[in-house]
Amino acid sequence: MFILKGIEQLTNAIAKAKKVRPRVHFVRFGHYQVSGSKGYYTVICKKSDNGYKTVECTCKASERGLVCYHAASALSLHVGLARQRQTA
Ligand SMILES: [Zn+2]
Repeated sequence: MFILKGIEQLTNAIAKAKKVRPRVHFVRFGHYQVSGSKGYYTVICKKSDNGYKTVECTCKASERGLVCYHAASALSLHVGLARQRQTA
């Protein structure tokens, strides 16, 4: 799990996601499944009560607090959806 503070954090993970091109499945808003080397990982994006945006992935890298490309892929979808919601 990591706290999303800015896009700079995601730069490397986005670069990797562009190479790997994982599939992202929408489960519900804030809940996604992203394909990885060992099947699908679950990514949860949420806003905590104190206003932090947190991203959780079930892969090993994320367990160690790293920003993985699954999270980056899910986030790019999530951010687009969140924007649509605001303008709807
Ligand atoms: Zn991951």
